[in-house]
Amino acid sequence: MNLPTFKGGIHPPESKSQTADREIEMLSPRGCLVYPMSQHLGVPCSPIVKKGERVLVGQKIADSEAFVSAPILSSVSGVVKEIGTHMTISGAVEACVTIENDTMFEYAASLLPHRDYRELGRAECVKIIREAGIVGMGGAAFPTHVKLSPPPGREIKWIIVNGAECEPFLNCDNRLMIEHPEPIIGGLEICLHIFPGAEGIIAVENNKPEAIRRLEGELSERGANIRVMPHAVKYPQGAEKMLIYTVTGQEIPPGALPAEVGCIVLNVGTAAHIWNAVIDGIPVLDRVISVAGDAVANPKNIMAPLGASVRELIDSAGGFVGEPVKVLSGGPMMGISMRSVDVPTVKGTSGILALTAKSAPLFGESNCIRCGRCVSACPMGLLPLSLDRFVRLRQYAEFESSGGMNCIECGSCTYSCPARRHLTQTCRDGKSEVMAARKRQKEKGALS
Ligand code: SF4
Ligand code: SF4
Repeated sequence: MNLPTFKGGIHPPESKSQTADREIEMLSPRGCLVYPMSQHLGVPCSPIVKKGERVLVGQKIADSEAFVSAPILSSVSGVVKEIGTHMTISGAVEACVTIENDTMFEYAASLLPHRDYRELGRAECVKIIREAGIVGMGGAAFPTHVKLSPPPGREIKWIIVNGAECEPFLNCDNRLMIEHPEPIIGGLEICLHIFPGAEGIIAVENNKPEAIRRLEGELSERGANIRVMPHAVKYPQGAEKMLIYTVTGQEIPPGALPAEVGCIVLNVGTAAHIWNAVIDGIPVLDRVISVAGDAVANPKNIMAPLGASVRELIDSAGGFVGEPVKVLSGGPMMGISMRSVDVPTVKGTSGILALTAKSAPLFGESNCIRCGRCVSACPMGLLPLSLDRFVRLRQYAEFESSGGMNCIECGSCTYSCPARRHLTQTCRDGKSEVMAARKRQKEKGALS
């Protein structure tokens, strides 16, 4: 049977067997937990607690008045040890709140179940979701209350829960669908209550048969008006634009948001957090993280409190075996290479991947042989070889006019290039240069 999919894309080895059957284990954190003020897209938060103050589990410790932002809540009880700076997963040193965990896990009295969500209005539901600090848990960390607030008059026809998890090695979404399908479906039901005219779909790559079976079983028990849609196994199937095309046939114009074609896409972890927040009053305190790779002794899926150190996660997976040449936050295709493992986990941390030289060999680049493989692989219909040349020649206007800003940095071009050209990295560099130039232009305009 031909399953639906998108144009372009690649088939990297799935490498999921290390953790596919490993049940989610809880991590009880020790020591201090560190909460970066910028762990979502949009405006960073500012601390609202003081050094020396005692805080409880679920207490808000940072917030922002900006619409595109999301509050940060403590995942432990303890005392605020420091309000300062700390290295984060990206390698940058950023503003953080550090809490010394008292290991008592005393919950804030404000964490109370809400009344039946069907009695809540749309604005009330969205406010609960915002106050719970919910952002996209697939990695992008876009604030969910913003997604659920499309411009007035915009009709939402589809709410798609993204269970594709197309990144090799990762199983955090897969295990959540297998072990906890109820809150995922429940979160989608709440979104359908907010948008009563929309159709609810849970899209899952066809290499997760157990997850599909569990979701379908739960749906038939609840009699929910939601369908599970298995789709072809291809990378980057889980990218928002690719998923929307696969499920609805709609193409999102460059620069547009999914709501403009009537779609809202939520990761499975995001849907589960919506349920936890609206039904039980529990904000985002933790998330599932796959700790995998051939440099990890005992790969596993961990429910980790936010703010726990990456080193602690690796230790709980048995530590390193062999010398890791690369430790990534996320999967091998779109993950960020980390400079240190003494950094905190954040809302968007889906995986920690440690690889030895055997599985992550370093290759030098050679000249482009104009084979066109990168063009066939690009799911955005771009010409990566041309974009690469424009960036290397510093021809950023040409990079922009050739659609370089539409690059989703999926890594498919780099993966498919026989000359090992660093195509994704040059696209990333080109985008940063264009953004910096736009910012300079804006500042100049504001001054004149
Ligand atoms: S895949 Fe590599 S070698 Fe082939 S055209 Fe693209 S950049 Fe050139
Ligand atoms: S150019 Fe960008 S979108 Fe296209 S394959 Fe490369 S990284 Fe992906």
